[in-house]
Amino acid sequence: MVSGNLPMQTTAPPWLRASGTFLLLCAFLALPTFGTRNPKPVPTREGRSAAVEALLFLRVPYPKKGGLKAVAAKYTGQESNLRALEKHNPQARKKRTASVRIPVELLLPAYRLEALAALLPQDKRVAGGWEHRWGTSPLGEDETWEDLALWMAGSRAKATSLRSANRGAGRTPKKGAAVLVPETLLLKAYEEIAVPKGPRATPPKAGPGQGTAGAPPPADPAIQNPPREAPTPPLVGPPAPPPLVGPPALPQTPIPEPAGPGLPTPSGEASPAGLPQASGGSPLEYGSDARGRYALYRLQAGEALYSAVVVRFTGNVDADEVNGLAADYALRSGIEDVHAIPVGYPVKIPIEDLLPQFLPADDPRFSAWAKKQEEVGRFTNTYKSSALEGVVVVLDAGHGGLDRGAMKHGVWEDSYVYDIVCRIREGLERRTKARVLMTVLEPGLGYKPQDKSKLAPNKGAVILTHPWFSQKSREETKVEVNLRWVLTNQYYLRLQKEGIDPHRVVFTSVHADSLHPSLRGSMFYIPGDDYRSERWCVSGPAYEPYAEATGQPCYEVTRKELVRSEGLSLQLARALEKSFASRGLLLHPYIPTRNHVVRGKRSWVPAVLRNTIVPCAVLIEVCNLANKKDAALVATPAYRQAVADAYIAALVKYYS
Ligand SMILES: [Zn+2]
Repeated sequence: MVSGNLPMQTTAPPWLRASGTFLLLCAFLALPTFGTRNPKPVPTREGRSAAVEALLFLRVPYPKKGGLKAVAAKYTGQESNLRALEKHNPQARKKRTASVRIPVELLLPAYRLEALAALLPQDKRVAGGWEHRWGTSPLGEDETWEDLALWMAGSRAKATSLRSANRGAGRTPKKGAAVLVPETLLLKAYEEIAVPKGPRATPPKAGPGQGTAGAPPPADPAIQNPPREAPTPPLVGPPAPPPLVGPPALPQTPIPEPAGPGLPTPSGEASPAGLPQASGGSPLEYGSDARGRYALYRLQAGEALYSAVVVRFTGNVDADEVNGLAADYALRSGIEDVHAIPVGYPVKIPIEDLLPQFLPADDPRFSAWAKKQEEVGRFTNTYKSSALEGVVVVLDAGHGGLDRGAMKHGVWEDSYVYDIVCRIREGLERRTKARVLMTVLEPGLGYKPQDKSKLAPNKGAVILTHPWFSQKSREETKVEVNLRWVLTNQYYLRLQKEGIDPHRVVFTSVHADSLHPSLRGSMFYIPGDDYRSERWCVSGPAYEPYAEATGQPCYEVTRKELVRSEGLSLQLARALEKSFASRGLLLHPYIPTRNHVVRGKRSWVPAVLRNTIVPCAVLIEVCNLANKKDAALVATPAYRQAVADAYIAALVKYYS
């Protein structure tokens, strides 16, 4: 029996929560702002604040170690910005300061958006430039065209051009009126922010508290702006993924690094969930020799046997498996030195090792696979929502307690994925209307994101069953994993009793993988129907203390529901692929979305996906810790924030 106190909070509308400093902002805006050329900084998070001091700045705490150089590296991504920071913080050279000012245009994207959300909460990137709502910055109605020109175009001298681009707005536009900073004037830092596409989130609405705080009146008809087509979300809403063609969003972000040599970037066949390739555009030929049937692949320039052949065509990613298979294929193909294979050399792959999509078109396994793809594709999400209103997200952070998860290069899984989940939770609650339910809690941390690169192990993490489960021995790992889906299923059934459409619920588990060290990027696992049964249970004394397990130990679903689950999950995973790619986050180079795990000859779906009854379920592997660069990346708060933002944007897309 599940207890009645599910942590389902009612949340404020996103425009209220948007800045995360609503109360402070309101208190601040309620003060008379006339004549205030140096308004108070707006607190953001982690001791940071955003301020208008001629320029737009993010103020960050002066670090204990590393001085301005460390600030430059952490917040701007480049130590070479030290000079610029010294210029804006002359007193910091002698450490006579508690905080450091960073101009918004130098900031890494996540911090830039943090500052903009606090300073220009009603502004947004639009097709053609930047839309500013007059008088809504901390300067209030004291704002001038020169201010706007300095902030957005980099110089007060551009005020004249700015005014002529907004003919009709008058010398002093009305408070809340929309003015456009055309793309031709816009600083690169703002130009790089993706233009949201299509209607997605509700634009800010008048609401309680806004009347006195300076609500924007309806758009001023006197302004001769081009008619705005579809409403675009405010800046502080979840950023929508930009179109896949054209420049990627925020391309200057130093977070992702291009795939190393020999590791091709996602190409045509890395299409979502690996849609049919074997027929038609297959790069494979087929034949047989003394050892049986094989597929033949001719290596291209720059390709390596283990990644371009083994990983790509067999789906194996485990280091030992990949190396073992590569050695085996080399032997069968007559390759003596795997490091000196001539371009075009035919490599033989045993037919039984191939992923089904790479089999010959007349192979029954291929036909079965293609048929399943078609069935799965028939199920798509029918619940549409603006700003995720009505959506419930169940978040699961992998590992914790006694279990660190994968550990490589001084980084381990549990603390880092927990931090990503906290960032997703925070983003969803601040910027959307979604309800968030959690499976795991580290009581010592709560759900506050940690802006540090060295995190402590989450030794105290518990599963939020009744009572809480905390792992006491290694033998309990299975119980720990099972209680995650038991709890999730009980959340789901509870929501069903509330009458919530199954399409409105999403389950996401966040992990970091340990794979062949050549591989980089994120992967998305979805529950493959073929790897699941229609009935499953937990049983035994280990589960007896937990109300969620004793109340209902067994679950039953129909085959059709399992196929639907794969279809919905695939649709979300595709949105994730696009969102990650459009933000420059690396994806696994071959088939980033998979409906099962492959390790040697074994295939399965991870337990949290296999046994959940939430129809839309995705497990994200945010990086490969066995790759040194990936491990270093997940240690940076900026990467963890970028993953969280990409996830939220994908979810918004899935529901729009
Ligand atoms: Zn894991």
